[in-house]
Amino acid sequence: MTLAVQSPLTLAEIAVKVEQGSRIDVEDARWLWQNAAVGELQRLAAIVRSRFHAPGECTYMVMRIVNYTNVCVAQCDYCAFYKLPTQAGGYVMSQDDVFAKLDELIALGGDLAAFNGGFNPALPLSYYCELFAAIRARYGDALEFYALTIAEFLYLADHAKLSYAEAAERLRASGVRWITGGGSEILTEGFRARHSKFKYTVAEYFEAQRAIIDAGLKTTATMVIGFDETLDERLEHLDRTRQFQDETRGLASFLCWTFKPYFTQLGGQLGGIEISTAEYLKHLALCRIFLDNIPRIRTSVLTQNQRALEGLNYGADDFDLPIEDEVTQKAGATISLDFERILDYARELGYTPRYRHVALAAKQ
Ligand code: SF4
Repeated sequence: MTLAVQSPLTLAEIAVKVEQGSRIDVEDARWLWQNAAVGELQRLAAIVRSRFHAPGECTYMVMRIVNYTNVCVAQCDYCAFYKLPTQAGGYVMSQDDVFAKLDELIALGGDLAAFNGGFNPALPLSYYCELFAAIRARYGDALEFYALTIAEFLYLADHAKLSYAEAAERLRASGVRWITGGGSEILTEGFRARHSKFKYTVAEYFEAQRAIIDAGLKTTATMVIGFDETLDERLEHLDRTRQFQDETRGLASFLCWTFKPYFTQLGGQLGGIEISTAEYLKHLALCRIFLDNIPRIRTSVLTQNQRALEGLNYGADDFDLPIEDEVTQKAGATISLDFERILDYARELGYTPRYRHVALAAKQ
């Protein structure tokens, strides 16, 4: 019989693991969250960060989320964005609508678009393939795009009655290079049963992401905190993500952001209470320490504004400067286009920000 290894449960012993490049386990992570001083978490996160990135360096991108449709049948209770097919106010963007958004992005100095819409039963696979092929034909390598989130990909494949492998191949043939890990929120079956029971299981999420990697597409890991998730659920999410990366090596980065509750069913009209930036930053540090196999930890300007950059002192190394995202803006997020002010804050914190071109990375 194999006995479970007991966590040492002292800071000194956990710190030695991190300093020596050994992996911490879930119980170590729990202990750190519950007992370690914030400064110690920052110190340990900096050690792991330094294995991937030079201290004092960070990267960023100017990007736009293109919410091509707001029609969705998933009915997640944390979403203020969607309209049911029977409700007024639903929309679908034409190719020209999308081109106008992308032209504006380029004019503002950006070169990354991320498509994020809903589970819209009126949209066939051809809508997506034609749109993405047209974007690739029009912009070439001057602009890169994250074609869908895993959640939308799951719905699209099911709706088109294709296997995940077939759907990934059809998208790849249309010029798609990236499908991001969006739609993960908290990757536990319990969380999904409570809040998004029509949004696919954790097992389906990872099965689809594996098919995406096997098809030669690039992908990322994401997480959203600040709902009603427990510490156990956060740790399970991180553990599943790390295991998946051990198996596939396919996750280019990890991005965590915070739930914006305004006008959602879960948060109510007044929004309830958002978690503090301090809690977000502490969580980022824990993510950096635990996810020792993911090179890039990203911090969320979209949901934390300028203060997200303080995440650079908590193990993060990369961030977006977003110009639009209707999903989070509908639920209370605010966006500033004063990029220089935000970049100056990174410099004040002691970092040299460098633009990261995803289009170039996709071809490496
Ligand atoms: S979060 Fe996404 S999948 Fe859920 S209801 Fe909103 S648009 Fe639909």
